[in-house]
Amino acid sequence: MGASADALRRIPSVERIAQAVRTQGVAVPDRLITSAVRVELALVRARLQAGGDAPDLAAIAGAAAARALALLQDAPRPVVNATGVIVHTNLGRAPLSDRAVAAVAAAAQGYSDLEYDLGEGRRGHRASHLAGILREITGAEAALVVNNNAAAVLLALEACARGREVLVSRGEAIEIGGGFRIPEILAASGAILRDVGTTNRTRVEDYAAALSERTAAILHVHRSNFAQVGFAESPPLQGLSALAREHGLLLIHDLGSGSLIDTTAFGLAREPLVQESLAAGASIVTFSGDKLLGGPQAGVLVGARAVIDPLARRPLARAVRPDKMTIAALRATLGHYVRDEARTHIPVWQMIGASPDAIRRRALDLAEGIANCAVLPSQAAVGGGSLPGQTLPSYAIQLGPAYGQAADVVARLRRMSVPVIARVQENAVWLDLRTVLPRDEPALRAALTGLAPRLPPVPTGAASRQRQAGVGRRGGGEGSCGK
Ligand SMILES: *Cc1c(COP(=O)(O)O)cnc(C)c1O
Repeated sequence: MGASADALRRIPSVERIAQAVRTQGVAVPDRLITSAVRVELALVRARLQAGGDAPDLAAIAGAAAARALALLQDAPRPVVNATGVIVHTNLGRAPLSDRAVAAVAAAAQGYSDLEYDLGEGRRGHRASHLAGILREITGAEAALVVNNNAAAVLLALEACARGREVLVSRGEAIEIGGGFRIPEILAASGAILRDVGTTNRTRVEDYAAALSERTAAILHVHRSNFAQVGFAESPPLQGLSALAREHGLLLIHDLGSGSLIDTTAFGLAREPLVQESLAAGASIVTFSGDKLLGGPQAGVLVGARAVIDPLARRPLARAVRPDKMTIAALRATLGHYVRDEARTHIPVWQMIGASPDAIRRRALDLAEGIANCAVLPSQAAVGGGSLPGQTLPSYAIQLGPAYGQAADVVARLRRMSVPVIARVQENAVWLDLRTVLPRDEPALRAALTGLAPRLPPVPTGAASRQRQAGVGRRGGGEGSCGK
């Protein structure tokens, strides 16, 4: 259905709307107002052409003002992660340690010896800042850092297998999330995917049967993001490495999160360790910097010197090299591992290691004086594709029904000056304290205070006692968390 010529003619002019924005006293440069008005008018025309109604001048001016102001805001905006998912890709994965943040600021603010050899007074190598410390921590002969793990896998395949075949189990030709699909990365690298075994069961013999003179490598992909249960089998890494060695192939292990710390020490299932993968004979192990490592976005390749060193000389390595801020943040993060203080200084590991009791106490403190809520046990998750299905016992502030519909409450929390990202579960809003950083507590407190209940709270007694006990009834609307 087309818009009438009349309706289109009645749309106010750019200048009239811009003038209306200016009279609102919006402190925005004039050219931003004009371009925002143009965008809004294009939307209005499209809406009319689709048979809709034209908004009035004030509405168009309001939308244009918001659009212009948004350009002046810094982004991405800091938010409070109250989802209970520690490595949350949508929320920027791993928060950095104080030391890593300071290192980034120092690298960003001034000059550094990024590619300068201070001893010799001549050109140095950016890779030198990370290679030694990664060798020390993982036990690898050589290490290389790129922009992210997707780039690490791409580089490994491009350098070692372009134009040749790579064996991949059908159970591992997977999508990790965020558009990382193993078959597509293989295609982009110029390597040829050779499917092996079946979706649920693949054995070493299946790989052996698929070998030919065109085979360059075996790619073993850690199943991040999902678990196979029941009638499933995948070969032990040792079996694959023996086969690879026997036939002169490379074994590339995409580990994903690449934990350097044993997760079983925290009551979790085992996330495979980088060190173990190398010890089992992988030629190249790749992993992310911002998952369980707890550092900045980066991709790490570790392995045999004869395999890793040539990778660094590929043109693709130059295209995916890390910047100085990433190098500074990763070096500082790895510094916590060599000092044996990763568990106490890296936020991801602090959150994984926090005791439920300490989390409960923080929840109770935060909920103090907040009407209509309860502190209840909840389940947090490591996230980032690590340990799918595994949860960590946690505590959350559950907001009662007096605040309104859960979908509406989480939307209001997202619009706070420091947005709070909460979880909706059983039609209620949950704020899980395991993922709320101590520095974010004032912002969370302000958001809770600003989120006035829509209904007057009912008398307190019962809920207050629940709060003392640290457990409340589900539904949470019985009374107040406060005094
Ligand atoms: C997360 C993940 C990737 C992608 O890593 P990025 O650092 O996000 O590029 C690749 N493979 C596996 C197994 C993963 O878990």
